[in-house]
Amino acid sequence: MEEFKFKDAVIRLKKGDITLEETEAIVNAANASLTGGGGVDGAIHRAAGPTLLGECLEITKKIGSLPTGKAVITGGGNLRARYVIHTVGPVWGSGKEEKKLRSSYRESLNAAAEKKIRSISFPSISTGAYRYPARKASRVAADEVLKFLEENSSLREVNFVLFTRDVYECYLNAFKKAMDERNNL
Ligand code: ADP
Repeated sequence: MEEFKFKDAVIRLKKGDITLEETEAIVNAANASLTGGGGVDGAIHRAAGPTLLGECLEITKKIGSLPTGKAVITGGGNLRARYVIHTVGPVWGSGKEEKKLRSSYRESLNAAAEKKIRSISFPSISTGAYRYPARKASRVAADEVLKFLEENSSLREVNFVLFTRDVYECYLNAFKKAMDERNNL
């Protein structure tokens, strides 16, 4: 685990399973139908239980499928987290991937700020089945989180819960670099 202080917040990078997080919200790398699936999405739905799927279906009944780069919020079902923020990251190769991934992080953080959420945990969005290279994705994640914390003050704790050692190393390097750049301004 590695911990950074930035503005009024602490940023933690850890290896592990996001379904065990005790932050107020966890972010789900969902697909557009919000019906669960493989990877982190499947793990979150299994751990949260059927009320999560019920809430997701209520949302898609109203808005249809969730566009890439957008985020919606539901309760956390049986999870420790009170909320799940569902965002659809870009599929690598679909075009404008960086812009879409930035939007996924920004929209998720905005959804948290609207509810005055103080602590949030992210997985590595898009880097599994959607094949976004983890090194590139980690730079986007670090940049968007730091930008958000520079402009907003409700969030006090931002965790990244990375499933594998390789992906953890990518995020660690990206956050170190993004912090250094900001400190040298
Ligand atoms: P996407 O479709 O957005 O690529 P995936 O779930 O396939 O989403 O993968 C995103 C990342 O989540 C990958 O790095 C994968 O290893 C990781 N992951 C899978 N299960 C979990 C979990 N339980 N907790 C945290 N991260 C997970």
